[in-house]
Parts: sequence; C-alpha cells; structure tokens
Amino acid sequence: MIKNQSFNQRHGKFSETEQKTIEEAAQLLIREYENTVQREVFPPIPVELIAESVYDLKIYKTVTEEGIPGQLNLNQKCLILNLADSLQRQKFTVAHELGHIKLHYIPNLNCFRKDKSFDRKEIEANQFAGTLLIPQKFLYEHLILELIELVKRFKISGFSCKNKKPLEICLFPLNQLN
Ligand SMILES: [Zn+2]
Repeated sequence: MIKNQSFNQRHGKFSETEQKTIEEAAQLLIREYENTVQREVFPPIPVELIAESVYDLKIYKTVTEEGIPGQLNLNQKCLILNLADSLQRQKFTVAHELGHIKLHYIPNLNCFRKDKSFDRKEIEANQFAGTLLIPQKFLYEHLILELIELVKRFKISGFSCKNKKPLEICLFPLNQLN
C-alpha cells in the first residue's frame, strides 16, 4: 500500500504524489505487457490479455455468490469474474484486481461491490483500474483532438474555451491551442 498519510480516507482522495505513484504503476504494467508481447498497446487496453500474459492468470466467468465482482487467487493463478456483470464492469474488475497485484501483492481475496467503499486498498485498486483503462497520455490525446474539433466548429480560439465549466473539469492544457 502507498505509504503517504495525506490520503483522505473519508473522501477517497489521494495527494498528487499518491496519484502519480498509482499512474506510474499502471504505466509500468502496460510496459511490462508491451515487452512480453513485443508490440505497442493502444486503446482499448486489453486488461484480460495483460492478466494472462504478465501474471499467467486464467480468467473464469461464472455467476458468483453474493454478486462478488472479482475473486483473485494468485496461488492457483486464477481470477473469477461475475458473469452477471456487464462486459465493461468485468473489464474494470480485471483492471481492479491487477491493481491489487501491482500495488498490494495480495495473493487471495474477494472484492466486494458495496461494503469496502472506504477501504483504502479498494480505493487504490479502483484508482489504478481507471488509470490503466484510460492511460493519461491517451486521454489527453483524445481530449486535444476533441477540443481542436470544438474550436473549428465554433470558429473560436482555444483561449475562448478556458472559462467554460466542462472544459475546466477536464483540466485541459489549453495553452497549446491559443
Ligand atoms: Zn478489490
């Protein structure tokens, strides 16, 4: 687990350093996969293939007890997913379990849906999953392309977008479009 006490347990927020550590761990895993398969990865990030190639995990899908989204057993090298979950949710679960392996080295665990929302390791694994599924470099590339389209369509400068609420939320590097 990341050893930095600035984590806000109640609100599930990380400091910039903690966030960066999680992002770097996700990037490292993608690089490990790229080295294993000898090719570059592009979206959508193939998390199931990453689990199989990097950690030699077998993925099984079944309707799990109590709707548990993921059951990881590193000793038996298997990851069980809940067949009742959507494919997107299953993908997130794989990415989440990879977060536990990469950040916490937990050999066996069941990840529950509801009752661990304030468990730090669960929040870290969720954060890792989000970063793994949408790596920042691809996120920015896509957002920049979208913003360029927006600027063309409205016939405005990038600077005009700066104070627009949805774009502020994106924390966009607008100075590139002035
Ligand atoms: Zn978990």
